[in-house]
Amino acid sequence: MNLSEEIFLNHLGQTSPFPFLIPIEKAEGVYLYGPDGKKYIDMISGIGVSNIGHRHPHVVAAIKEQVDKHLHIMVYGEYIQSAPNLLAQKLASLLPSNLNCSYFVNSGTEANEAALKLAKRVTGRTEIISCKKSYHGSTHGSLSVSGNVVKKRAFLPLLPDVNFIEFSNENDLQKITERTACVIMETVQGDAGVRIPTKDYLKAVRQRCTQTGTLLIFDEIQCGMGRTGTLFAFQQFDVVPDILTVGKAFGGGLPIAAFISSKEKMQLLTHDPMLGHITTFGGNPVCCASALATLEVLENENILASVEAKGKLIQELLLHPKIKETRRIGLMFAFDFDSAERVTRIVNYCKENGVIGYWFLSNPYSFRLAPPLTITPEEIKIACQVIWNAIENS
Ligand code: PMP
Repeated sequence: MNLSEEIFLNHLGQTSPFPFLIPIEKAEGVYLYGPDGKKYIDMISGIGVSNIGHRHPHVVAAIKEQVDKHLHIMVYGEYIQSAPNLLAQKLASLLPSNLNCSYFVNSGTEANEAALKLAKRVTGRTEIISCKKSYHGSTHGSLSVSGNVVKKRAFLPLLPDVNFIEFSNENDLQKITERTACVIMETVQGDAGVRIPTKDYLKAVRQRCTQTGTLLIFDEIQCGMGRTGTLFAFQQFDVVPDILTVGKAFGGGLPIAAFISSKEKMQLLTHDPMLGHITTFGGNPVCCASALATLEVLENENILASVEAKGKLIQELLLHPKIKETRRIGLMFAFDFDSAERVTRIVNYCKENGVIGYWFLSNPYSFRLAPPLTITPEEIKIACQVIWNAIENS
């Protein structure tokens, strides 16, 4: 074990000038444990990953079972392996019939990259429409379709023919035309600070896409896997996309993501050109076993049934006058404050007092919570007391 801050800061690539710098030795359920006996309630699920808690025993057992059979054996799509087969079968059984074919990749951003390529291949068009304030990933293609202008500036030029519409603004839908290959949007915007569309808006998006022959991609990398109270967020809006991307919590703690569409569309990636999307580690059998076990836990433990009640409980416990606005769907929260500095003070107080909360990439005025869906009402009460104190002291 080596939890040296010196090594961390000097020999690991960094992403910001102010990392959290909490040494972690172990994680279990909703808790993270430091080497000094410190214990934290993870109220952000490792940023939307540990939806069924850390190291769920069913997931750990599935991983161990797969490790004893085989690890990586061949690049994606060549050998027939049980773990990806079972996972794809499970997804097909849970999704509408036009989303019957899954392609497993390594990260959320790769799933979106591949989804954009698939849309271009299917339609033969080049224009991509995305939403302002969206976040779809950090590689060139996904960054191109992300809305945060500041985050893009140093990396220009990015993908051409990308245009932006305002999320939840029906008037902007006229910008989708016969020239548009796809519209990519988060079903519920995450990093923008939990922006929840209306059913009517998403239906209008679907209608306009169908009218113009444009493919609709829903990015559920953050809002999928039960986070909003249904397995996939789109199930609450009566709208079905042509391509769905999932990631983060999908792997139960291991790195795996997927873009999912119809067999007919997906088959186009096999010719003109052949190997239209390839990846060495996609569909890694250990990650697939972990993802399947995660879906089984969500189902067998009836976890989705209590998401709404837990979400309401947190909302009721955090009715603090300093909060300007609360946006919530299921167990996905943004609490708006009057300044980014206040949010930072709240995050830091929480951290010092054993609760992990966070910011949003594109919305520093909001405090972020997305606890494991498995959190108990007692754990919620303990965490919310600390958060309340943090707000009081901010
Ligand atoms: N899409 C959304 C909606 C996300 O929230 C994220 C990650 N924050 C991504 C895509 C990118 O996923 P990854 O970090 O696994 O590349």
